[in-house]
Amino acid sequence: MEAKRGSTPATGGAWSVSAEETEKWMEQAMQMAREALENIEVPVGCLMVFNNEVVGKGRNEVNQTKNATRHAEMVAIDQALDWCRRSGKNSSEVFERTVLYVTVEPCIMCAAALRLIKIPLVVYGCQNERFGGCGSVLDIASADLPNTGRPFRCIPGYRAEEAVEMLKTFYKQENPNAPKSKVRKKECQKS
Ligand SMILES: [Zn+2]
Repeated sequence: MEAKRGSTPATGGAWSVSAEETEKWMEQAMQMAREALENIEVPVGCLMVFNNEVVGKGRNEVNQTKNATRHAEMVAIDQALDWCRRSGKNSSEVFERTVLYVTVEPCIMCAAALRLIKIPLVVYGCQNERFGGCGSVLDIASADLPNTGRPFRCIPGYRAEEAVEMLKTFYKQENPNAPKSKVRKKECQKS
């Protein structure tokens, strides 16, 4: 089998991306996160890149859809599946060669989904202290779990401060879907 663009297919740990790729795709992911923030969603944005092409992208749509599972990654996965259908490609083969760029560490739910579809590499911005599934709360990414896809490699920390700033900006404003009791007192006192 021929090697594509110097990447090693479907072996997980061997995947890597260049600094240029990271810069280019993370910039777009940041723009998606900004768009989420402007739409009063938790500011997370992501891109799924296969063969140097964006096959899926997403930002949080939880408030808009009133569906707690509509995280950026889930939106992007749905788009990537559509892309595979339209281009007549086998989604398993595509996902095994797809890199996910996301502004915040994927949560436990998304990390599990990424494992199941066998994404080999996730490049992300800041840690997700509350829900992170790549080490912050649980390590779904590298845990030895039976029958749950394949562990994936993570490259954390790219433009982390910016990603955190966006999250802080969001949590300073009132989340329209949060029950009143959950609005933190400190923030009420400040404003
Ligand atoms: Zn998630």
